[in-house]
Amino acid sequence: MLSIQNLYKQFGSLVAVNNLELSVAPGETVVIMGPSGCGKSTTIRMINRLIEPDQGAVMFDNVDITRLDDAGLRTMRKRIGYVFQQFNLISRLSAIENVMLGLVMGGQSKEEAYGKALAALGKVGMEQAIDQKPGQLSGGQQQRVGIARALAFEPELMLWDEPTASLDPMLVREVLIVMEELAKYRAATMLVVTHEIAFALHVADRIVLMEKGAVVETGLPSQVFVEPASRVGRQYKELIE
Ligand code: ATP
Ligand code: MG
Repeated sequence: MLSIQNLYKQFGSLVAVNNLELSVAPGETVVIMGPSGCGKSTTIRMINRLIEPDQGAVMFDNVDITRLDDAGLRTMRKRIGYVFQQFNLISRLSAIENVMLGLVMGGQSKEEAYGKALAALGKVGMEQAIDQKPGQLSGGQQQRVGIARALAFEPELMLWDEPTASLDPMLVREVLIVMEELAKYRAATMLVVTHEIAFALHVADRIVLMEKGAVVETGLPSQVFVEPASRVGRQYKELIE
């Protein structure tokens, strides 16, 4: 479904992503790991062009996202959900209004958007709190609203960039559980950047390890963390042991 070819990005003289190659099959959950600064966020943001690549192709169902015009990109982005580390909820809007907003701006009627938002909030276990404002919710609940906001579009692909990294350790679990459920039921194809090794071990269909802007190893969790072929892989193995 997704095939990234020769992706390249430079910031000034710094090469952030260096001819990266990566493919994701339909329904697959792929976890990207690697040291800080290795280019994970830049890679994931180039997929929906929150960052413009310098070179390379991002093929999504045989369409090269890097070559889409503005209208084509807008349509494509509806098929790709994105969950940020910072939840970026609008504080004066309730949970359900936050989820509805994008749908209504995309041209759906309020009734239609309400129904979809309600269903999405149900999938993340937030149906009891739909009228709460972000300030009245815990970080974990806020992130679940963030997830519902992406889910409401029924995306084919979901991109996750460290969705639990700004949460209190006590609240990480509830978000990981939601992610695990989505992966288990193949609600969407998932590409997840996370440092949560236990999640990667148990939920990922495949692990991709990056170093210095490139993929250095890819394989099953049991392979990558048990018999690593790369330096980065050996570092993760030591962390687990
Ligand atoms: P982390 O695990 O800390 O989130 P990462 O793997 O996501 O790291 P990126 O954020 O993709 O790493 O950054 C890759 C490299 O590019 C880093 O050296 C970073 O400092 C640099 N970089 C990222 N964004 C920019 C930018 N907008 N301008 C300049 N340099 C940048
Ligand atoms: Mg990052």
